[in-house]
Amino acid sequence: MAYIISDECIACGSCESECPVGCISEKDGKFVIDASQCIDCGTCAGVCPVGAPSAE
Ligand code: SF4
Ligand code: SF4
Repeated sequence: MAYIISDECIACGSCESECPVGCISEKDGKFVIDASQCIDCGTCAGVCPVGAPSAE
């Protein structure tokens, strides 16, 4: 299991600094989650203003 960020992402960057394992990074103007590191905590979904991250 891992969270994924949908195309709704407006690249605000809020989730990147909140992720406890630092597995969110910017790529080509959107933010992406490294599924191999994600611990499924849901923090990114909680801070995102547009609801882009969701459980896979
Ligand atoms: Fe990071 Fe948690 Fe979001 Fe996974 S669910 S990307 S560990 S904040
Ligand atoms: Fe994208 Fe939401 Fe993360 Fe902002 S908080 S960078 S909109 S996924």
